Amino acid sequence: MSRPRATGAADSRCPSCAAPVLTQWVGTVAALKVTADLTPLTPEQQAAVLEPNRLVWCLYRASAHSTPRLRWITASHPTGCTHPHVTEHRCPPAEPTTLF
Ligand SMILES: [Zn+2]
Ligand SMILES: [Zn+2]
Repeated sequence: MSRPRATGAADSRCPSCAAPVLTQWVGTVAALKVTADLTPLTPEQQAAVLEPNRLVWCLYRASAHSTPRLRWITASHPTGCTHPHVTEHRCPPAEPTTLF
């Protein structure tokens, strides 16, 4: 058992591409481990990334100093939500540095 400590801030890095990510268990009944990018998406980007296996999350912060929490975006989610919406992290394609 470790001491309780704040998790979920941008202290995680993707082990593959080192991008800052947020890894959190989301949900109370069937918790889902989510690794999210920290870049907020515009509504257009959210629509573009939406696909059956890729979810968009609401990065909710109760106050400026509280730990951000990923929330499900449900049907009742406000359309004018002011929190950043982020999506699941995917590593960018590797740079083709070995060509030529
Ligand atoms: Zn939201
Ligand atoms: Zn990555």
